[in-house]
Amino acid sequence: MERLENKTALVTGSSRGIGRAVALRLAEEGALVAVHYATQRDAAEETVRLIEQDGGRAFAVQAELGVPGDVHELFLGLEHELKARTGETVLNILVNNAAITTPAGQTPEDVTPEDLDRLYAVNVKAPFFIVQRALPLLSAGGRIINVSSGLTRLANPEQVAYAMTKGAVEQITLHLARHLAPRGITVNTVAPGITNNGSAIFDVPEAVQQMAQLSAFKRVGEAADVADVIRFLATDEARWITGAFVDASGGTLLG
Ligand code: NDP
Repeated sequence: MERLENKTALVTGSSRGIGRAVALRLAEEGALVAVHYATQRDAAEETVRLIEQDGGRAFAVQAELGVPGDVHELFLGLEHELKARTGETVLNILVNNAAITTPAGQTPEDVTPEDLDRLYAVNVKAPFFIVQRALPLLSAGGRIINVSSGLTRLANPEQVAYAMTKGAVEQITLHLARHLAPRGITVNTVAPGITNNGSAIFDVPEAVQQMAQLSAFKRVGEAADVADVIRFLATDEARWITGAFVDASGGTLLG
């Protein structure tokens, strides 16, 4: 039997990269998946197509995060589509995956207040208020999975601003796990290491070879490596795990 039959899921930023792989995994288990995106409508529709091609159920929902009204916009679309497909607006699984990163090569000296505001708006404020807005929709036994990064435990000065936002995301997990336990809702963090998200850098063999050295397994992660971990946390089999930091970095944090 599919483990997520009759469940609904929202995966933010699932038009591509890790989010797409998560959407595919959850749909594979029978969940109806809301494929959220900001601007890449074609990519989101491709995620939906891939899910439907495998016999799964999904729909795309657009909302740019990090701007005024973002969460309202997201839930307007989400609730409308859930109602149309299921007759209600119950959400069982929320994966806070969408995020932006610091531009490559940005030293701590280069970070501006505007950079930090933007990073916090998309990576921290949006997921926090998405969780808050989702609370009345989340069912008993629900799941919240926040995607962080190994960079909260591995120094990389060029990513300090981004890593700060991921540290904040981990605080959402810690405190909301306590808050939501009485409802049987688990809240966990999954922290990927360098993961092939389909961007151009992963087509450069020398760069990939160099990045691979960071993992204990001497390869870069694939989106599916991370998505499988998130899928597990979404199932009933993970009901006894809450407030956890799950290292999905292929041993990068072993040093
Ligand atoms: P990608 O850059 O491949 O995809 C980002 C996704 O987020 C897209 O779906 C994009 O939508 C969406 N998104 C970006 N900005 C916004 C915004 N302002 N509003 C709404 N949606 C937005 O991401 P990855 O797969 O690389 O990363 C996924 C998660 O994993 C992130 O939280 C990231 O921090 C984390 N992570 C990734 C690592 C990696 O090496 N890839 C390493 C460690 C952590 P659209 O397509 O419409 O632009």
